[in-house]
Amino acid sequence: MATIKQLIVDGEAALAENADDSSSARLDAEILLGFAVKQTRTWLYTWPEHIPSLPQQHLYLELISRRENGEPIAYLIGRREFWGLELIINENVLIPRPETELLVETCLAKLAGLESARVADLGTGSGAIALALGYEKPMWEITATDKSNDALALASKNAEALGIANVRFLNGDWTTPVSKLQEKNACHAILGNPPYIDENDPHLQQGDVRFEPELALTSAENGLADIRVIIHDCVSLLETGGWLMLEHGYQQGEQVRQIFTTKDYGEVETLKDLSGNDRVTIGRIKNKE
Ligand code: GLN
Repeated sequence: MATIKQLIVDGEAALAENADDSSSARLDAEILLGFAVKQTRTWLYTWPEHIPSLPQQHLYLELISRRENGEPIAYLIGRREFWGLELIINENVLIPRPETELLVETCLAKLAGLESARVADLGTGSGAIALALGYEKPMWEITATDKSNDALALASKNAEALGIANVRFLNGDWTTPVSKLQEKNACHAILGNPPYIDENDPHLQQGDVRFEPELALTSAENGLADIRVIIHDCVSLLETGGWLMLEHGYQQGEQVRQIFTTKDYGEVETLKDLSGNDRVTIGRIKNKE
C-alpha cells in the first residue's frame, strides 16, 4: 500500500524515464494523482502519508502509463484552464493554448469603448475564445461557430457550466453560419484560431498534437488555405471599421499580412505572443462604398 508521497515519487520516476517530454514529470505526476484522489495539489502536500484507496491507486497508475505513452494531460483529466476559466476538454477539440489569450486581449483592447458589440469566433473548438469574451463582456452578442458538432456540444456544455449566457453556437464551415443569420447586422470583430499547420510538418509527429483532431490542426497550401478563405469571406460580414483577428504560426506573419493587404483591409499588423513570436495578425475593414 503506497502513500501519497511514494506514489508521486514513483510516478515522477516513471515519467522522467519513459515520457518523451519529461520536463514536467513531477508536476504531471502530482496533477494526475490529484485527479485520481479528487484533491488539490496543496492537499497532496498536506497529507503525504495518506494511503489512497485501491481503485484510486489503480486509476493513477493507468493515467501515468497513458501519460508515458504521450497522451496530453488535458485529455487525461478532461480539463484545461484558459483566461482563468476552467474548460471541459475532450479529444474532439484542440487543447486551448496560452498564446491564444493574445487574441482575446487584442479584441478587448480594440473594442474597448463598445458597450454592446457583435463578435464572432470562427472554429470555436472548446469555446475558449468566445467564452473568455462572453465572460469579460456580458453585454456583447457573441456567435461561435464550428464545423464539428462534437466540438459544439462540448463548447455549449462549457458555456452552461460557466454560466455564460451571451454566446450562441452554430454549426457550419467558417463564415457560413454567420452569413445565414436572419438579422443582417454586421460584426464589430471576428476572431479565429484556425488550423494553420502544413500537412507535412514534422511537428505533427511530436507531443500533444499527435492526439489532437486533425481538423483543428492542419490546412492545405502550407497551412494557409483556411486563413485565406476566412480573410476573403469576412469582408462582407464585418461593418466598416470592424476588425478581423487571426492566430497563425510563428513563421506565417508576413504571408498572412500579405493576404490581408487587399482593397478591403487597412491597419494590418502582426502582434507577438509572450515568447516574442509572431502570433496574431489583425486588419480593419476600410470604408465600404
Ligand atoms: N478556438 C479554439 C482555440 O483556440 C479552437 C481552435 C482550433 O481548433 N484550431 O482553442
